[in-house]
Amino acid sequence: MTSASELLALRSELGGSLVLPGDAGYEAARMPWNLSVDQRPAAIAEPADVADVQAILRTAAAAGLGVTVQPNGHGASGDLNDVVLVRPTRFDTLIVDEQARVLRAGAGVNWGRALEQLDGTGLVALAGSNPEVNVVALAIAGGHSMFSRRYGITARSIISVEFVDAAGTLHRVTDADDAELMWALRGGGGLFGIVTEVELVLYPGEAIFGGSLMFPAEAAEAVVVAALELARDELELGLDIGMMHFPDAPQAPPHLRGRTVATIGLVHVGDEATGRAFADRIVAVAEPIADTLTSFTIGSLAAVAAEPVDPMPSSDFGAALDGLDAAAFAHDFVDAFLRGAERGLMRASIRAMGGAIADELGAEFAAVGATQADALMSCSVLLFDPSLDADAAFEPMRDLAAKYPGGTVLPTFLSSGATLADAYDREVLDRLAAVKQRVDPGGVIRSNRPLG
Ligand SMILES: Cc1cc2nc3c(=O)[nH]c(=O)nc-3n(C[C@H](O)[C@H](O)[C@H](O)COP(=O)(O)OP(=O)(O)OC[C@H]3O[C@@H](n4cnc5c(N)ncnc54)[C@H](O)[C@@H]3O)c2cc1C
Repeated sequence: MTSASELLALRSELGGSLVLPGDAGYEAARMPWNLSVDQRPAAIAEPADVADVQAILRTAAAAGLGVTVQPNGHGASGDLNDVVLVRPTRFDTLIVDEQARVLRAGAGVNWGRALEQLDGTGLVALAGSNPEVNVVALAIAGGHSMFSRRYGITARSIISVEFVDAAGTLHRVTDADDAELMWALRGGGGLFGIVTEVELVLYPGEAIFGGSLMFPAEAAEAVVVAALELARDELELGLDIGMMHFPDAPQAPPHLRGRTVATIGLVHVGDEATGRAFADRIVAVAEPIADTLTSFTIGSLAAVAAEPVDPMPSSDFGAALDGLDAAAFAHDFVDAFLRGAERGLMRASIRAMGGAIADELGAEFAAVGATQADALMSCSVLLFDPSLDADAAFEPMRDLAAKYPGGTVLPTFLSSGATLADAYDREVLDRLAAVKQRVDPGGVIRSNRPLG
């Protein structure tokens, strides 16, 4: 049989759906969140249950195709011509066990829904800042949360993983069952199987204060210095220190069109008075042009972070930074951003690291080990204008990263098209490769972040 006839046979076997090239729904079904990635998979499957996942894997292996899971496609990275793309939408289990402090989330659950479910429990999960990012995708590839300096990197909060391996066998693994596989799943991403469910630790978060501050570009250097000093002094505070340039285009809010601003995202687990006092250290150096800081409940984290949720064409650059002397780095950061913005750079932000992120839990616990860098930088270019050269726009930020090298990058912060070889050292890569060889010797399961 050709792969086309095998896929047609698979379609009649599935309880869920399978969309093939040429079908009416193919164009819509193939699109990832990042619209700049032109992926044309061999098929798009929406399995109804584990039996469907097993049938997809069996058929793909027989037809010489790969299989990848892509809940949303923020991290989409390739053409996928010889791959069946799995959308896990129907795996929508969401259970909060307040007593045990455990969140169980199916592979189709995004963070926005999971956090809403936590409202009223006084507990938080180590969510990213965007509600449309998937719980499993962020957790298995590292995951930096505004709660990470207090409680750690998201991958290290994974308790158990339920997944279907390349041979079609369903497993539920914990450290007691297979410590090496759990180590790999805590940071190795989607290399090892089709994850159907994860269990994550929940942490205390009765009172939360945070939001964002925006300042004019002229104040950027002073604001970045104050924020870096605050990050150095308050190791549990979540801080995102950034700059944005809004194009003079209809996509930008009218009052910000053509403007460059400095932004501070802040999340404090604790009372408003303490959180406000932290923010006042930054407000003392410049008058904000916008201030959304407030007490909030965990279900409103997305509203407070106010990140874009609609699909868009973008390219990203990420790096870990270290050795950040506040005054010298603030000068270099603002200067690099302004030069990049002239070439189309839209956003650059520095997530403060340290605190629980730097706690050593042991090399046997997680592929994402203790990260010692001062900060993680992420930069974005919007590619609405096809003539824009993302490489040129990122160049000043690349030079900045080379001046303050920070080593290991979390996989969720890797640049567009980067592999795990850009995130981990040789020893970790070799261990990940050994686990991959054991659970998927035929290389059927494809990740957006291959080993490299
Ligand atoms: C606006 C925005 C904000 C972000 N904020 C943060 C943040 O605060 N912190 C952070 O750490 N990252 C953040 N990210 C990065 C984000 O975590 C990654 O892009 C990640 O890939 C998740 O995106 P997604 O849900 O679209 O997953 P997708 O891009 O759809 O999937 C990514 C990969 O995960 C693997 N995968 C997903 N589900 C499964 C599964 N069930 N089984 C096996 N493999 C699977 C696959 O290999 C897949 O290719 C952000 C990204 C954007 C665009």
